[in-house]
Amino acid sequence: MYVTKKPVGRVKHIPQRTCVGCREVLPKRQMFRIVRTADGVHVDPSGKLAGRGAYMHDRLSCWTRGLKGALAHALKTNLSEEDLSRLHEVMNTLPKEAETDG
Ligand SMILES: [Zn+2]
Repeated sequence: MYVTKKPVGRVKHIPQRTCVGCREVLPKRQMFRIVRTADGVHVDPSGKLAGRGAYMHDRLSCWTRGLKGALAHALKTNLSEEDLSRLHEVMNTLPKEAETDG
């Protein structure tokens, strides 16, 4: 059996994105993609929706900050009541922040 050698030295590129809540840069897979479509602002778990996108951590504090204005700013839009309630639904599934012992 003849086997061709695979090329070596290929560098794996991990896409990184900035969280609109805390401005930290993280690997994409640890973040939620939020997309502005013609149909409003949606969370995009598939990462496939077309439109202007922004990223947020799976951290409650980032969502809180994001929904206060950073997200709308990043998407260059205003969040409607509907958008906000959709986002809150996802936000409610996030684990509560770990509190310091005490
Ligand atoms: Zn963040």
